[in-house]
Amino acid sequence: MASVIIIGGGIIGLSSALYLSEAGHQVTILEKGDLSDNCSFGNAGMIVPSHFIPLAAPGMVQQGIKWMFDSKSPFFVRPSLNPDLFSWGIKFLKKANAAHVEESAVPLRDISLLSKKLYEELHQRGEFDFGLVEKGILMFYKTQKAAEEEAHLAEKGKSLGLDMEVLSRDACKSLQPELELDVLGAVHYRCDAHVYPNQLIKGLVSLLEKNCVRIARNHEVSRIETSAGKIASVAAAGERFSADHYIIAGGSWSPAVARLAGLRIPLLPGKGYSFMAKEPEGRMKIPALLAEARVAITPMNGSIRYGGTMEIDRINTRVNLNRVRGIVEAIPKYFPDLHPEMPAEKDIWFGFRPSSPDGLPYIGRSKKLSNLVIATGHGMMGLSLGPATGKLVSQIVSEQQPEIPLSAFSPDRY
Ligand SMILES: Cc1cc2nc3c(=O)[nH]c(=O)nc-3n(C[C@H](O)[C@H](O)[C@H](O)COP(=O)(O)OP(=O)(O)OC[C@H]3O[C@@H](n4cnc5c(N)ncnc54)[C@H](O)[C@@H]3O)c2cc1C
Repeated sequence: MASVIIIGGGIIGLSSALYLSEAGHQVTILEKGDLSDNCSFGNAGMIVPSHFIPLAAPGMVQQGIKWMFDSKSPFFVRPSLNPDLFSWGIKFLKKANAAHVEESAVPLRDISLLSKKLYEELHQRGEFDFGLVEKGILMFYKTQKAAEEEAHLAEKGKSLGLDMEVLSRDACKSLQPELELDVLGAVHYRCDAHVYPNQLIKGLVSLLEKNCVRIARNHEVSRIETSAGKIASVAAAGERFSADHYIIAGGSWSPAVARLAGLRIPLLPGKGYSFMAKEPEGRMKIPALLAEARVAITPMNGSIRYGGTMEIDRINTRVNLNRVRGIVEAIPKYFPDLHPEMPAEKDIWFGFRPSSPDGLPYIGRSKKLSNLVIATGHGMMGLSLGPATGKLVSQIVSEQQPEIPLSAFSPDRY
């Protein structure tokens, strides 16, 4: 049995703690906040084996440039002289090609399917309810161009063994009978699922505390001491902590944490927004993605969560109301019965997706510090990939063969 310190209590840190503690390790989580919010709370809750295309893909650059000139668009990069942004941008450009998409598809599929299986196991254990529903996700489109792109992706997905089907407008209607639809059709990602993230994170925290994992809230790691190619100790809230192994799972703050240990992790925060609207009639049967508008709609706990946008910028607490308005205005274009009101600023949630430039997570041991494992950079898919990442972290620390190959996710690939 080894002692392990995890820096960060989002879905990645908590999932790592779950599988590490169950493998018999003694685990401490150091978390700078009070665990009432982080990116793992207000997200769209989608479990997405369908997402085998990384963010860095052909067409993203041209599309991104067009969106930059629309204040309500779903994607924005704030131009700045920040050298981290420049270096991230160059790496992104180098990977936005067909070869990268091709070589990422199998690793992304495998980690996603592993994660979904682990979510199912967690649900079957019945220790806490986190609202897992396995009805898939409908990717709706309105234009012929999007229809062709989505049909092509569905073909590729099927060739990877993923369960998905292109649906006509009428077939969509039979799956979503209580809401009017103004769409050309959809792809039904039957391989996907959804959860209620707020309940998932709260449930995981209680389960871990019951299983004797120490969770030190309001403990921001502010110093890391290294010696002889290893981490010797970390300092947080005036205390010094040391362990056999350390895990960096700090989400969008991971580069700052890594810098304390003299390491660089290319990663930028991709801010997104969400808000809840009551839906007592439960008319939204299956979560939806709106292809052209890039909006996610998920039924949760008697309400609907609407979410979207990706602003690549420094971490900040500004709420860009125009971009939220972009989400609000997109919804009735696909669902004429749904007219959510523009939420008050205080009711708008935002979170920072830890976005690597090639769209793949970093999971693995650091080459420079032998007792450090890095687990971050999951971008748009962190909730989905949480359990698999936790399981893989536990296998790395326990020196077991990881369940899937990890080379595509190497933290030293840059
Ligand atoms: C609008 C939106 C919708 C999304 N929808 C989905 C979805 O449907 N499906 C999906 O899979 N993903 C989705 N995502 C992405 C997903 O939410 C993230 O990828 C995921 O939550 C990242 O988890 P994490 O644990 O890496 O980071 P976080 O949840 O941010 O956790 C990191 C933790 O580390 C702590 N920390 C940082 N620095 C320190 C330090 N120095 N010391 C101690 N603690 C520290 C932070 O306080 C934080 O609690 C969405 C994101 C957004 C914004």
